[in-house]
Amino acid sequence: MTQRPASLTPEFLDGLVQRVPGTTGNTWKLTEVYTGDLLVELPQSSPADIERAFDTARTAQQIWGSWPLRKRLKVLKKFHALVLDNQYLITDLIQAESGKNRRMAFEESCDVPMGTSHYIKRAPSVLKDRKHAGPIPVLSHSTEVRRPKGVVAIIAPWNFPFATGISDTIPALIAGNGVVVKPDNKTALSPLFGVRLLEQAGMPKGLVQVICGEGPDVGGPMLANADYVMFTGSTATGRIIGELAGKHLIGACLELGGKNPMLVLEDANVDEAVHAALFGGFGNSGQICMHIERLYVHDSIYDEFRDKFVAATEAMQIGATYDFGPDIGSLVSVDHRDRVASHVDDARAKGATVLTGGKARPDLGPAFYEPTILEGVTKDMLAGSTETFGPVVGLYRFSTEDEAIALANDTDYGLNASVWSKDVKRGLAVARRIDSGNVNVNDILATAYASKGSPSGGLKQSGVGARHGDQGLLKYTDAQNIALLKKQVMEPKAGQSYEAYAKQTQSGLRWMRKTRLR
Ligand code: NAD
Repeated sequence: MTQRPASLTPEFLDGLVQRVPGTTGNTWKLTEVYTGDLLVELPQSSPADIERAFDTARTAQQIWGSWPLRKRLKVLKKFHALVLDNQYLITDLIQAESGKNRRMAFEESCDVPMGTSHYIKRAPSVLKDRKHAGPIPVLSHSTEVRRPKGVVAIIAPWNFPFATGISDTIPALIAGNGVVVKPDNKTALSPLFGVRLLEQAGMPKGLVQVICGEGPDVGGPMLANADYVMFTGSTATGRIIGELAGKHLIGACLELGGKNPMLVLEDANVDEAVHAALFGGFGNSGQICMHIERLYVHDSIYDEFRDKFVAATEAMQIGATYDFGPDIGSLVSVDHRDRVASHVDDARAKGATVLTGGKARPDLGPAFYEPTILEGVTKDMLAGSTETFGPVVGLYRFSTEDEAIALANDTDYGLNASVWSKDVKRGLAVARRIDSGNVNVNDILATAYASKGSPSGGLKQSGVGARHGDQGLLKYTDAQNIALLKKQVMEPKAGQSYEAYAKQTQSGLRWMRKTRLR
């Protein structure tokens, strides 16, 4: 029987949800995924609650935004230490609310300190004023000043609740903003704990608000009050958020779904690629936006790869425990398990072969589903063209590099790809030809995602904008252009004809090009 961690007492969980405004009086039953048992009644926020949350964050932002960056970063340094001090408790919360295995929950908890540390180091140079030459040498210049947007709405999904809820909040705060976070109802606990740690670290009270509700109920009021929206979730919802952002003329960063390919070229190390494919296909029970759903293997090694992959998959440990033992855990909910099963059933009915898996595992918990490998998947099947977002991988053969690249690109999505070859130069060359925002050579996803200095986002229907990199911080700011002209010379002098002034301007432009001054 699953033994819930002693840390998750009813008093602790009730204390966490108390910060959620909920004048509707309605609550959502937030359950432990492994057992289906009630963990806590989560308040649901009304439109008036949401408006108030933005007002409160806006008031606190006036103070926070006026602090020098160095003072804000001091809070973030303390927060970084607090996250590491509380890492196992955070891991408990993530596991209980999402049902993922402990290894994955622990790795998720590492994302927040990694991103925080990156921006603590990088922010002073990214956010500092930048002086630019003005139109008239010596007499003019302009300064690019980075101002916080105001209050940022962060809408997060359930698959990485702590990482998407809190990691995306950190650069918004560093840039001087207030934040209103909306986690998924299923997974509000770990982001709520993250906000508690921010306050313990010295962040002004009220600066980060957490509101809860079903997406369609809260999306409208959130976007009506926000100055920017950072959304992570499905492509379908991303479109709705994009439309609302357009209506209110605010900026948006949309991190959406994928149907990510893995290419195993004929010169790849098969054993390493098989090992990686276990994580690629089944890590987080296949509920990672960057995970692999299409696996293309060169003809010459296909049979060897398939047999080893099936055997290794069948040796994986699935389980509902709060220790580091199981390789994979549960899906997030029974509804989601049914959606994943419908993709497999549809593939089976249309002629695909299930090489292993293909069954729910109610003996382990209400939402468990076996890691599943399919062969013979075609584009008319749900699993062939749309995101399954579960532990289901389609295996395909290819015979030339060009064919593999064409197959990888034959999708509306473009979030992540993985290329395997012992020839690093070749792997990197193939990577450039794949239409994907992230490509990992000889890894699945972690190398790209954890390279916090590079922007990480989706191409095509996988998103707009990016997190990480300098733009992951700059997107939470507006650029203000403050220009100075020391003496008015951009008009004819007294008594000078416009013809003479025009000639003088022309020769000035020629001279500046020649001397490369402007
Ligand atoms: P979802 O789009 O259903 O929900 C995401 C969030 O949006 C939730 O908090 C939800 O309550 C909220 N929401 C739903 N409708 C809304 C509306 N009309 N207005 C405002 N908010 C609304 O996605 P999901 O099923 O929770 O998450 C899985 C999806 O997220 C997958 O497609 C996955 O690929 C994607 N994802 C992408 C990334 C990335 O970085 N690209 C990361 C994680 C997950």
